Amino acid sequence: MVIAKSAVEGNYVKTGSKLFDVVGLDKVWVKLDVYETEVAMIQYGQNVTFTTAALPGHEFSGAVAFIDPIVDEKTRTVRVRLNVDNASGMLKPGMFTNGTLKANIDSHGQALGMDLTGKWVCPMHPEEVHEQQGVCSICGMKLESAESLGFVHHDNGSNPLLIPASAVLKTGQRAIVYVQKDDETFEGREIVLGHRAGDYYVVRSGLQEGERVVVRGNFKIDSAMQIAAKPSMMNPDAKMDDKKPMLHQH
Ligand SMILES: [Zn+2]
Repeated sequence: MVIAKSAVEGNYVKTGSKLFDVVGLDKVWVKLDVYETEVAMIQYGQNVTFTTAALPGHEFSGAVAFIDPIVDEKTRTVRVRLNVDNASGMLKPGMFTNGTLKANIDSHGQALGMDLTGKWVCPMHPEEVHEQQGVCSICGMKLESAESLGFVHHDNGSNPLLIPASAVLKTGQRAIVYVQKDDETFEGREIVLGHRAGDYYVVRSGLQEGERVVVRGNFKIDSAMQIAAKPSMMNPDAKMDDKKPMLHQH
């Protein structure tokens, strides 16, 4: 499609002069801004669904083809580019889009994508994954090893520990949960959280699998602790970290 015309019939033009701007809109790029705190969950080749206010009710998708290695200092975001098929021609350059990415993450909060170990890929086209060295069938560029492009993340083999988000009492930098010790004893414990995942938080440290945490009424326990001048979320100075179980009076 001709989107700009710089010459008219009869013009004298030299070699290299621009006559027309011609674009193919059957494939488009979608540029998304991702907060730097979430960029670890994004990986080359991941599928992202997105919508645009210009076309309500339509959902589109594309694959992550580029993750900017530099954080924009003004917006604190990282630019991520998707390659998107646009055979229908519905998407037009310049439209605003809003994307949703669902990632599988390991216990370190790192995205687990497709395993590209030993594969050869085009740096521009995530759909091009080859077993052997060669060239991209779309753009003709030389394929690079996935390792050399930094696309291979070694799975550390552990699933993240999750707790319901409602179990967590957060104050600024700290996160507290109440852990059940026996029928009527709860221990306040400071834990280290990873990312939030829907109605859950990833726990980086401070809890073991199988421990029971309070998911309802934890604010009540916390305020009872405060009244009893015991360490609580709001008043941690009574040494939250001495790990001494405290009796909760009903
Ligand atoms: Zn290519």
